[in-house]
Amino acid sequence: MKHFTTIKEISTYLKPGQKQGLEIGFVPTMGALHEGHLTLIRRSKAENDLTICSIFVNPIQFNNKEDLEKYPRNLVRDAKILEELGCDVLFSPESGEIYPDGHTEPLDLEFGMLDKVMEGKFRPGHFRGVAIVVKKLFDIVYPSRAYFGKKDFQQLAIIRYLVQTLKIPVQIIACETVREDDGLAMSSRNMRLTIAERQIAPIIYQVLCKAKEKVGKLPVWELKEWAIKKIQTNPEMRVEYFEIGDRESLLPLENWSHKNRAVAFTAVFLGDVRLIDNIELFS
Ligand code: AMP
Repeated sequence: MKHFTTIKEISTYLKPGQKQGLEIGFVPTMGALHEGHLTLIRRSKAENDLTICSIFVNPIQFNNKEDLEKYPRNLVRDAKILEELGCDVLFSPESGEIYPDGHTEPLDLEFGMLDKVMEGKFRPGHFRGVAIVVKKLFDIVYPSRAYFGKKDFQQLAIIRYLVQTLKIPVQIIACETVREDDGLAMSSRNMRLTIAERQIAPIIYQVLCKAKEKVGKLPVWELKEWAIKKIQTNPEMRVEYFEIGDRESLLPLENWSHKNRAVAFTAVFLGDVRLIDNIELFS
């Protein structure tokens, strides 16, 4: 596996392949790799000539300094995992490489309501930060396909919008959420949970599954109230939002007349760790 940290190095390496028309699969990550990330890499390997994984803890998408500081980092371990998996290229730039002199070029793009609801509401500026870095990485890698997890469903909607609006010639591939055996969605943040917190964390997915069973059986508002109450019966858990939204516009649904488009989304604080998860209610 080739490992690059500068834009110049990776660009020079990729140029001949890009000219030849090699199909490049790209998996952008923030590292602390787990099975969720590895599934994306495997899929990219199966579908492309060359697979590139980036590891970059993007400072401008964190609106909480402590979250950025505490974000798990282990590049040596990650590089070894990627090597064993047969990833072709790892790109792990320093912050200064992506944002020289701390400079962030503005992104001339509005996301309508996509970045105003749920994650966008509680993490202002987060998706703009995500979009800026993904656009920059696409401009370096020029991937044919880029792989994203449904675990970050709203992020996926933002990326699709970015690509469509700016007419970036890349196919966005959505991959199913990979879960632990007990249902907890895999996340780099899970390793910050205490043993006791980790034990109760699967409740989030259990409630999402129960909510799916209740679709159409009680009004949307009542289902949301039920779910919030159910999660918060655990005093260690605080629900930031539990929302039922349209799978494309992400706008909240008020009734079940479009239940075949409904997705339930939640963000829950467990101690000081913030976990997100979602479930498609229409499948
Ligand atoms: P992150 O490193 O958290 O920025 O995630 C990098 C990519 O991996 C994103 O596209 C995520 O949606 C995806 N991802 C993270 N966790 C999971 C998971 N449990 N299942 C599937 N994809 C995931």
